Amino acid sequence: MKLIFLGPPGAGKGTQAKIFTQKYDIPQLSTGDMLRAAVAAGTEVGKKAKAIMDKGGLVPDEVVNQIVADRISESDCINGFILDGYPRTVGQAKALFDILKSRGTDLDAVIEFEVDEDKLLERMKKRVEETLKAGGEVRSDDNPETFAKRLAEYHEKTAPLSKFYTETGHLHTVDGMAEISAVAAEVEKLLKEAEAS
Ligand code: ADP
Repeated sequence: MKLIFLGPPGAGKGTQAKIFTQKYDIPQLSTGDMLRAAVAAGTEVGKKAKAIMDKGGLVPDEVVNQIVADRISESDCINGFILDGYPRTVGQAKALFDILKSRGTDLDAVIEFEVDEDKLLERMKKRVEETLKAGGEVRSDDNPETFAKRLAEYHEKTAPLSKFYTETGHLHTVDGMAEISAVAAEVEKLLKEAEAS
């Protein structure tokens, strides 16, 4: 199963991705996590990415495209993967098509999480509170100002992917405001349909 989970920051992509990695035994590939790992490791990519991420901007397409191309070549991706946070621009979506095509494969489905945007800031604040309570480290871009910028970037650069993947016939939409288990049930139903078709 080669899947993309699409939706604004705080839509619940990561939560659902964790559920489906277990169900399908495929890895969750979060470009956000990969970039944060590069930042933590102090690599060249990490150094460039940090300033952009802290402002809520998008890291250049060629950087993330290369990271993803390398990552999906690893052996744990043999049965597929869930991309979470990638592609984020039409340029990235086109690059992904080329990457998959060069490997003789294609996407199975794109799941879009539709959400009530007024609730997203609350979700982000809750994530911060829970992280602090658990003694974890809060993401440097999880604050109201940067969150607003991330949302604006989503509208400008990522939202056009809904149309893009509607035209390619890959898009399925779920209600991301339902309870976690209800969202998961809806995703599962869509994936079964996609598998059967
Ligand atoms: P979110 O919780 O907003 O979905 P992520 O953890 O996916 O956040 O990403 C955090 C930041 O990492 C983004 O705001 C952006 O700066 C950078 N990033 C992640 N994925 C991409 C991508 N595909 N293209 C460009 N930048 C990215």
